[in-house]
Amino acid sequence: MPDPAPQRLTVLGATGSIGQSTLDVVARHPDRFEVFALSAQRQDDKLLEQCLRFSPRFAVMGDAAAADRLRAALRGAGRDTEVLCGEEALERVAAAEAVDMVMAAIVGAAGLRPTLAAARAGKKVLLANKEALVLSGQLLIDAVAASGAVLLPIDSEHNAIFQALPADYAREPARAGVRRVLLTASGGPFRAAPIESLANVTPEQACAHPNWVMGRKISVDSATMMNKGLEVIEAHWLFGAPAEMIEVVVHPQSVIHSMVDYADGSVIAQLGNPDMRTPIANAMAWPERIDAGVRRLDLFEIARLDFERPDFARFPCLKLAFDALRAGGTAPAVLNAANEEAVAAFLDHRIGFLDIAAVIAASLERSRPGAVDSLEAVLAADAHARELARDEISRLRLN
Ligand code: NAD
Ligand code: MG
Repeated sequence: MPDPAPQRLTVLGATGSIGQSTLDVVARHPDRFEVFALSAQRQDDKLLEQCLRFSPRFAVMGDAAAADRLRAALRGAGRDTEVLCGEEALERVAAAEAVDMVMAAIVGAAGLRPTLAAARAGKKVLLANKEALVLSGQLLIDAVAASGAVLLPIDSEHNAIFQALPADYAREPARAGVRRVLLTASGGPFRAAPIESLANVTPEQACAHPNWVMGRKISVDSATMMNKGLEVIEAHWLFGAPAEMIEVVVHPQSVIHSMVDYADGSVIAQLGNPDMRTPIANAMAWPERIDAGVRRLDLFEIARLDFERPDFARFPCLKLAFDALRAGGTAPAVLNAANEEAVAAFLDHRIGFLDIAAVIAASLERSRPGAVDSLEAVLAADAHARELARDEISRLRLN
């Protein structure tokens, strides 16, 4: 039988940590994957390098000046990649007829529209952009169901759970005999730091994750454990599990990427070295398995696996996320938007590390509850929460 035609791929957020790991997997399998479009917000030099290497049909820049520079450079190099700019162009390359798979690896709520466009167009959606699901889980899940799109998790925990669930799993835990979903968490860089020291943590310290190299926003989220909180909400939407069924287990070695606890007492775990190319290759080739360039797991070198209960007093963001999931409606959207604003302010040295949770708590308190029944409703909740969070941030700065 002849080999099937290569799968055509759009990478949203190609210059980021996930985007680069995705292209590393693509480069290992030129017979299987072909790059249709790449996107980046500002880094035209990095996107240029990627365009020269992968010759996509389209490149999309967020920033107009960066788009002009990229266009000129590609023309100078004699390449015919077409350079587009802006959010509509992102939706276009995510939903284009010729595309088979979309890697949704933009960070934050900015990734929502193109991810939704890919889901509505029935693509195989490789979802790294957890914020999109937190913001509007219902809309994305409904879009996938309506179009017949396939949603595959890239987040290592969710990819692990996906691998530990039956192949025909249909978002009904009880029917599959699932008792609990066990989300593992490394605990980040401050798991064991003296609690008094957290007030003075710098962005550099917060971004130095013990096990994973990631973008700055998710690194801060890991330090506050908001990342795990967002992942609890992500697990709720991906697997149809209520909050009570999702348990966070601190596991500092990051070798077990998550587990599923079944009614018969079996607990199925997925293990591996902490390298995002594993979940990326798993989703890209699914249901097949391909080489991801990841070092083989050496259990003798690891020797032991530890587990701890999460400390909600040390990590109030985790509790806020559980509360938002239980509150439902637009509460998770408010949580996410306030977190994005607070993390940006922290990275800019405008507020302290402990202020992040305070800003989110106050924003949630001040927000009006609402239903997630349309994209407009979600975007309005997101915009309103950002106003509340900015107001809280400016008050903190006055004190
Ligand atoms: P990153 O900061 O390294 O990269 C972000 C990418 O998004 C870049 O290509 C950037 O140009 C683009 N981008 C940023 N703002 C944009 C905007 N407003 N509009 C369009 N594009 C924009 O981030 P990352 O670590 O690769 O994370 C990407 C997503 O994957 C996040 O949602 C994160 O939570 C998730 N994720 C990352 C990891 C990881 O190991 N890095 C693991 C699990 C999940
Ligand atoms: Mg994760």
